[in-house]
Amino acid sequence: MLDANAGPSANGPRRLNRAELKEMRKILEDRRQEVMRNAQKTLGEGIRLDAAELPDDMDLASSEYLQYFNLRLRGREKTYLEKIERAIQRIDSGSFGQCDECGEPIGLERLRVRPEATLCIRCKEAQEREEQQFG
Ligand SMILES: [Zn+2]
Repeated sequence: MLDANAGPSANGPRRLNRAELKEMRKILEDRRQEVMRNAQKTLGEGIRLDAAELPDDMDLASSEYLQYFNLRLRGREKTYLEKIERAIQRIDSGSFGQCDECGEPIGLERLRVRPEATLCIRCKEAQEREEQQFG
């Protein structure tokens, strides 16, 4: 069976076929590259700026400085990169596009917008409601 053809009751999201998985991988790899480029740019600017503020005796290659540099990578970009990496791993392992919570297909439309998503829209909304309750 090559493709899950939508039956009368299968109006919801279906599993991705091979071509769609390939498309997703491309999207993810493009995003990864873009995020890394942006991060490097930001970091590069940070270095030029901060180097002027560093004390004269602090070597740019010193571990202290490298620690500071790594600290800056631990932001939103790093979290996002990790999500992208995980999504690519999920493509390799065959679990991509499957909801972590209920196991149902996440759906192509949602994945095109958020290829790093690990929850289907229903579980995501339920999670957000819970977060609002406790947050
Ligand atoms: Zn779900």
